[in-house]
Amino acid sequence: MSDIKSATTITECIRCGTCCKKGGPSFHDEDKMLIGKGIILTKYLYTIRKGELSYDNVKECLLPATSDIIKIKGQKNSWACVFFNEEKNECTIYDNRPLECRVLKCWDTREIEKVYSKNRLTRIDLMATIEGLWDLIEDHQKRCSYDKLKRFVDSLNSNKKDKALKGILDIIEYDTRIRELVVQKGGLDTDITDFLFGRPITETIRMYNLKVEQEGDNYRLIPMRLKDKLQ
Ligand code: SF4
Repeated sequence: MSDIKSATTITECIRCGTCCKKGGPSFHDEDKMLIGKGIILTKYLYTIRKGELSYDNVKECLLPATSDIIKIKGQKNSWACVFFNEEKNECTIYDNRPLECRVLKCWDTREIEKVYSKNRLTRIDLMATIEGLWDLIEDHQKRCSYDKLKRFVDSLNSNKKDKALKGILDIIEYDTRIRELVVQKGGLDTDITDFLFGRPITETIRMYNLKVEQEGDNYRLIPMRLKDKLQ
């Protein structure tokens, strides 16, 4: 939170919008009602799954998530929270903003630091009672966990390379197909798949310096060059 901590001359919120432009908040148990009652729709959320690298705003580094982290999506071409109105420089859900937004004071970060990594809301808190759908989420998590993916990635330079490569491609294929399935057969909105199954592995695999290319129904795994990482 270096930018926040450096705002030493500020002693109250001046509604500059800086915090909202840096990205949406993560959800905590206290926010469950906002999603449960449909005040904040799941199509505006995404899940960072256990094991996925995510930026820790308090420790100021990338760390593997220790549980689900449910977050508000950014806007199309920026990190700004999807509920931030850039023209008016205001939050469009101000009266219902989540806990992290309520306790964040850029001039004094003690309160947000206390709650930041505690009582994070997870998909099981929200979805466990939705029969059928929760089974799909659990099954996806078992087949496509980041623990499993990382084990295969770590084996790519060993004598088990072929098995590892097949394992990774199977995970990518399942992760992609399940999203298509719930939309095409289940009639769900495409926008909620990043909440149900986390961000697509075709995107998050960049954290292992790999990228995926698709040719028809086949996927190819390619090591990323420096140029790709900077894009
Ligand atoms: S929910 Fe509102 S206050 Fe919180 S980051 Fe988004 S726009 Fe800002």
